[in-house]
Formats: sequence, C-alpha cells, structure tokens
Amino acid sequence: MSETGAACKASPGTFGPRIDRNRCEGKAACQQVCPYDVFQVGTLPRAERSGLSFIGKLKGIGHRWQQALIVNGDACRACGLCVGACPEDAITLVRR
Ligand code: SF4
Repeated sequence: MSETGAACKASPGTFGPRIDRNRCEGKAACQQVCPYDVFQVGTLPRAERSGLSFIGKLKGIGHRWQQALIVNGDACRACGLCVGACPEDAITLVRR
C-alpha cells in the first residue's frame, strides 16, 4: 500500500482494522483520524476480556476497559491513518 488518507481508493470493506486487545488503551487516536468513523471508544464487552494476557487484563482494569471498538468496519477504505496514529501500535489492517 503506497497511499494513505483521501487518496486511498480501496473499496469499502475490502480491508479492515484488527485491534490487539492486549495493547489498546482507548486513547482514541484512531477515532480522531479515521475519515469514515470506523471506531468509537467504549467499554470492551466482558466476552472479549477473557482471552487477554495477564498484562492485558491489568491494563484493561487500569483504563476502565475503555478501548477502541469497531462500530463501522464495512466503511474502512484501508487508508492506514489509524495504523500510524495509534500510540500503542495496536492496529493492523487485514484483508476481510
Ligand atoms: S484504515 Fe483505519 S483510518 Fe483508514 S478508513 Fe480504515 S479504519 Fe479508518
């Protein structure tokens, strides 16, 4: 991928973000930069907490389980802005 931002022409939903739940600290950088409102910071559902590492659980408790949730994944155009913006390196783009 060589282009980012508005220049990106990937079809919506071809790629999507994957969030490393052991890394995300809910700092909302992805929510702020995504042009397509793919993310919303909110409370990580209990069902998604059980698979976390010990450190991940400690971080989750420390941040009151606030993490970036994917609420509009079909709109992703794979611009890569969220990947670069995340201070925890928690986001990767994957083909869906
Ligand atoms: S790559 Fe990230 S910032 Fe870009 S559209 Fe997809 S979710 Fe939004």
